[in-house]
Amino acid sequence: MKVLEGQSQQVSNKRLAGKVALVTGGSRGIGTAIAKRLAEEGATVAFTYSKNKSSAEQVLNDINQTETKAYAYKADVAQDNEVNLLIDQIKSDHGKLDILINNAGVWEGGPLQDVDVEQFDRIFDVNVRGVIATTKAALNLLQDGGRIINISSVAATFATPGMSIYSASKAALDSLTKIWAQELGARQITVNGVAPGTTATDMYHQALSEEAKVAFNEKTALKRVGEPEDIAAVVAFLASPDGGWVTGKTIAADGGINI
Ligand code: NAP
Repeated sequence: MKVLEGQSQQVSNKRLAGKVALVTGGSRGIGTAIAKRLAEEGATVAFTYSKNKSSAEQVLNDINQTETKAYAYKADVAQDNEVNLLIDQIKSDHGKLDILINNAGVWEGGPLQDVDVEQFDRIFDVNVRGVIATTKAALNLLQDGGRIINISSVAATFATPGMSIYSASKAALDSLTKIWAQELGARQITVNGVAPGTTATDMYHQALSEEAKVAFNEKTALKRVGEPEDIAAVVAFLASPDGGWVTGKTIAADGGINI
C-alpha cells in the first residue's frame, strides 16, 4: 500500500509531463533553478546561455542525471539572428514549444548624474528587446494553451535610488505581460510575470553591497534573502495546469519586501 501511495505521489508531481519548455539564461542563478524545477516536474527543458559555457554544461549534466532530458543552446537574446536560429533549432530538435520563460536579464545601476545614456541600450537590449525578439520568434512554435512567463523584478514597483534604468526595463516588461495576455488569450496562452525580490545569485552579489543586502533582508517580512528555488516554485505553478486561470499578472515572489 505504501509503495502505491508513493507512486501516485510521484505521478502527481509531474505536472509538466509531455511539455517542452524554453528557459532563456538557464546557465546560472534563477534560470538554472527554473530549468531544474521544470525538469523535475516532467518537462523537456531547453535552456540558453550567452557566454558561460561551463556553467551551462554543469546544469545540463545535473538535469541529465535525472529522469528528464535537458538541452543547452548558446544564444544572446540581444542578437535577433541568434534568437531566430535558436527557435529554428528548437523546432527541429523538439517539434513544438509549450512553455517560454523569458528569464535572461542584465543589471547595471548608478544615480542619474553618473550613468551614461548608453546604459539604457545595454539594459533594454536584453531585458526588453530580447524578450520581444524571443517571444515573437517563438509565437508560431508555441502551442495553443501554452505559457509565457516573464521574469520581472520588484524593482519595477519599488523605487530604489540608483536603479532607475534597470527598474524602467522591468516596468516595461510588466506592460508587455499585460498586453500580450490580452492578445494571446484567444489561443488559451497565458502570459504572466514573476517579480523576484532580492535573490541570492551572481547578479545580487554584483548589484548590492554587504550593507545593502542586510538592509534588504530586513525589509522582507520573512527576514531573509530569496533563493532561486523560491522563484522557480512560483514559475512552476504558473507553467502548470494549476496556473491556467491566471493571466496578465505579475506575481511578486519577494518574501514580503514590498508590503
Ligand atoms: P544572473 O545570476 O546574472 O544570471 C543571468 C543569466 O542570464 C545567465 O544565465 C546569463 O548567461 C544569462 N544572460 C545574460 N545576458 C544574456 C543575454 N544577452 N542573452 C542570453 N542570456 C543572457 O542573474 P539572476 O539573478 O539569475 O537573474 C535572472 C532574472 O531575474 C533576470 O531577468 C533578473 O533581472 C531577474 N531578477 C533578479 C533578481 C536578483 O536579486 N537576483 C531580482 C529581481 C529580478 P551566461 O551564464 O552565459 O552569462
